[in-house]
Amino acid sequence: MWAEGAIPEVDLELLGSRIRDIPDHPKPGIVYKDITPLLLDPVAFRMAIGGLLLQIGDDAIDKVVGIEARGFILAAPLAYQLGAGFIPARKAGKLPGNSQGVAYELEYGAETLEIHDGAIAPGDRVWIVDDVLATGGTAAATASLVRGFGGEVVGLGFLMALGFLDGAAQLVDLRHASLLTV
Ligand code: AMP
Repeated sequence: MWAEGAIPEVDLELLGSRIRDIPDHPKPGIVYKDITPLLLDPVAFRMAIGGLLLQIGDDAIDKVVGIEARGFILAAPLAYQLGAGFIPARKAGKLPGNSQGVAYELEYGAETLEIHDGAIAPGDRVWIVDDVLATGGTAAATASLVRGFGGEVVGLGFLMALGFLDGAAQLVDLRHASLLTV
């Protein structure tokens, strides 16, 4: 864990300034929220991880699930800080071992996410992380996948929610938090 007092105070304005809009990516009409400037800035990156950690509070977490691909980058340091295991939720066919999958609709297409068999034990307390909450389909599908393994979804944390897409409507029965909403 971070030494007491070492979690940097979260400056939301700074974090927001490090997320870049890329119009018409990956499709015309989509404004892509690019977090690579945030990852490049060591202060902002550390602050983002600190903010994601604060979303969890004092709840015990056994496993942190990161959603491919940017969720991995955020979930791994979070798991490290929590002393929890890290689980990648990967796109179809990427995991080398046996896995279970869930199909869902995305803002820009359809997708399947998979988690390795044995990664989540029944009763594990799981926190799910991704960079952007858009329509909520990805997050809701990941939560149902975790529950399918018998895991308890303690909650979900995001850097940013696209408020106009109302992804929160997909997560009504789930605790969730976003550092920023645009
Ligand atoms: P959704 O299922 O619609 O909530 O989409 C969330 C997933 O797609 C996350 O893994 C995001 O990284 C990605 N995503 C969707 N829309 C955007 C966007 N406008 N900018 C960046 N990532 C996005």
